Amino acid sequence: MSRVYNFSAGPAVLPEEVLKQAADEMMDYRGSGMSVMEMSHRSKVYDDIIKTAEQDLRDLMGIPNNYKVLFLQGGASQQFAAVPMNLMKNKRAGYIITGQWAKKAYQEAKIYGDAVELASSADKTFSYIPDVSDLPITDDMDYVYICENNTIYGTKYKTLPNTKGKDLVSDVSSCFLSEPVDVTKYGVIYGGVQKNIGPAGVVISIIREDLIRDDVLAGTPTMLKWKTQADNDSLYNTPPCYGIYICGLVFGWIKRMGGLSGMKAHNERKAAVIYEFLDKSELFKGTVVKEDRSLMNVPFVTGDEELDKKFVAEATAAGFVNLKGHRTVGGMRASIYNAMPIEGVEKLVQFMEDFEKNNK
Ligand SMILES: *Cc1c(COP(=O)(O)O)cnc(C)c1O
Repeated sequence: MSRVYNFSAGPAVLPEEVLKQAADEMMDYRGSGMSVMEMSHRSKVYDDIIKTAEQDLRDLMGIPNNYKVLFLQGGASQQFAAVPMNLMKNKRAGYIITGQWAKKAYQEAKIYGDAVELASSADKTFSYIPDVSDLPITDDMDYVYICENNTIYGTKYKTLPNTKGKDLVSDVSSCFLSEPVDVTKYGVIYGGVQKNIGPAGVVISIIREDLIRDDVLAGTPTMLKWKTQADNDSLYNTPPCYGIYICGLVFGWIKRMGGLSGMKAHNERKAAVIYEFLDKSELFKGTVVKEDRSLMNVPFVTGDEELDKKFVAEATAAGFVNLKGHRTVGGMRASIYNAMPIEGVEKLVQFMEDFEKNNK
């Protein structure tokens, strides 16, 4: 067996401990005589899996009792529609455009109502987070929407927007469980799990109870109505059973790693290694303003497309894979999610130093 250092933006690296545990439990899950993939989602044994996963997530994030935790399908992209369908009472909401995922959510919301652009960083290829201290939020807005960590561009909000009393909806797909969070500051926190928590196919939405209601937009499909899912503890229909099980194993791993404060320390150490190198390198440059840098996604360039290509090819051959940047930014991007070990980042930086020496 030979494992690479996988810097993919998603689906992404998972903790080896979790993969091994899943392998051990594959043929016979804890004496049930079957794999988790093969069991009824209505069985006692599966009920324990999903309930334990939810409780562990509640413990990790300190989720208050007046918030529901939903395990859903359809990717984060389906929540782009579910958010306005469930929340647009006045058919008006504010969106902050900090990258492609925020923009897609904004465009989707326009199908259902009046989505208003409150601020944007499109003028500089989304390389910063705009000033969000005094936005043109109007009284009739149902919510304010952000993408908290911008996977493609490598920016992260360090302070949440002043929403002037409106509920904040946040897509945390690429920073889920990467550091402690105050859930009470949000109306809705949601994300696809394939970046930082588990296999593609599961979305977790954490929603304050009063935002889960019957009077959703006319025409909202039963499956996209949060109330349907909340009333049935995410078991209205067959959930993505196996994916939820893996998420549960990852929650257990994060607990053993010291919870979210442990994760934050681990992620800050890794990010410091790569950003400190980028700041002193004469070849590689980070593309994001320093104060808005993400701990999870680190885009960088050499300034020469041919050299970028050569770097990606040589890195791949050396076992550092999926470093090619998104096509709208070019260059490279190292995604260093929770499960990326510190050695992976240290060895990558060593490889970058050597590449720099050899390509002067
Ligand atoms: C990957 C990603 C998405 C899209 O997720 P899907 O599960 O593929 O729909 C949305 N938002 C952010 C921030 C992402 O990183």
